[in-house]
Amino acid sequence: VFFADIVPQAPEDPLFGLIRAFKADQHPTKVDVSVGAYRDNNAKPWVLPVVKKADEILRNDPNLDHEYAPIAGIASFTSKAAELILGPDSPAIKEKRVTSVQTISGTGAVHLGALFLARFFPGTKKVYVSNPTWVNHNQIFSNVGVPVAQYPYFSKQTKGLDFDGMKAAISEAPERSIILLHACAHNPTGVDPTLDQWKEIATVIKEKKHFPFFDTAYQGFASGDLDKDNAAVRYFVEQGFELVIAQSFAKNFGLYGERAGCFHFVTSPASDASETTTRVASQLAILQRSEISNPPLYGARIVSTVLNDPQLFAEWKENLRTMSGRIIEMRKALRAKLEELGTPGTWNHITDQIGMFSFTGLTEAQALKIRDEAHVYMTKNGRISMAGLNTNNIDYFAKAIDKVVR
Ligand code: PLP
Repeated sequence: VFFADIVPQAPEDPLFGLIRAFKADQHPTKVDVSVGAYRDNNAKPWVLPVVKKADEILRNDPNLDHEYAPIAGIASFTSKAAELILGPDSPAIKEKRVTSVQTISGTGAVHLGALFLARFFPGTKKVYVSNPTWVNHNQIFSNVGVPVAQYPYFSKQTKGLDFDGMKAAISEAPERSIILLHACAHNPTGVDPTLDQWKEIATVIKEKKHFPFFDTAYQGFASGDLDKDNAAVRYFVEQGFELVIAQSFAKNFGLYGERAGCFHFVTSPASDASETTTRVASQLAILQRSEISNPPLYGARIVSTVLNDPQLFAEWKENLRTMSGRIIEMRKALRAKLEELGTPGTWNHITDQIGMFSFTGLTEAQALKIRDEAHVYMTKNGRISMAGLNTNNIDYFAKAIDKVVR
């Protein structure tokens, strides 16, 4: 018997299976609302104009080489990444309480954080994630031996936040548990707490001495406003929490395949930052070394070029407004069309939800039926990527929803 003979077949990643089926479908009006990547109004990938400019600058720089980046990544990238999520005036940055490590996009940042917690976290080694959450959270944490539990998040009745359920579960979790929170534009539901609700969540987390783990993959992409989309993280930092952040630049820079991301450890203002950050950084460097040695250059160089140049930074914000603005328009249009058609149910959640995704409330049976009958591809939990909709397919899409819901 060979080793390979006993390796069991793993199930196909459901999302990538769906993408394959979509590609194979020859129907002329097929619609892809499965994958979480921005598309322009012609359903095409969009290279941000500011990214094109940064690329041009990099290509014309005679001093650029292909040497290894430092283990912790490109410093001009990681420092600006921290400023972006924490705010340039963050007390944590001023007091040098932030340790930042460049990672393989957001996935790599979640993984590095999970690995670090698995190794060193002194509390209850269990992470509480929202139900539902980004599917990868579950396997990233369980792969490093951190058990995953859930807190309620989505209310099927209101198609909004189950705030009481969420608070109660966080409050009932054993003291010093790890609480994973989506900083904004929750994936897959599109439902975020309000700032007042965040404040209450922070209070419960503080009472129970839990450890917040923020995942931020959509800053600026959600509302179009960088400061609005990092408000929860800034609030927690202002409250003096010790916490970690996994940050992705895949969506807000359209750099999906370039894998630009960052992991941040923010120490408490009550601890001696001059000592703790050095120790944290030393251990993160060891983990990074054994996993990827040195992070990749290209995406981080693009982001760094933009974030370090005031004019390019302003242009990026413009590009962010283009993406978030188009998505918000599509939300309004979809809701209006469904209401016009008199589609059974309420549809305000389409415009109440934010970011790349909407949890439509369609059942698994309906999600399968709409694929078979209308060639509309959505994940079976009824999640749609708003970026897949455009002025050319929104009528068709709304009618398909209407038909399947009736
Ligand atoms: N976290 C969340 C909540 C996400 O939705 C995503 C992407 O879909 C990621 C992290 C990480 O993505 P990436 O590894 O492409 O940066």
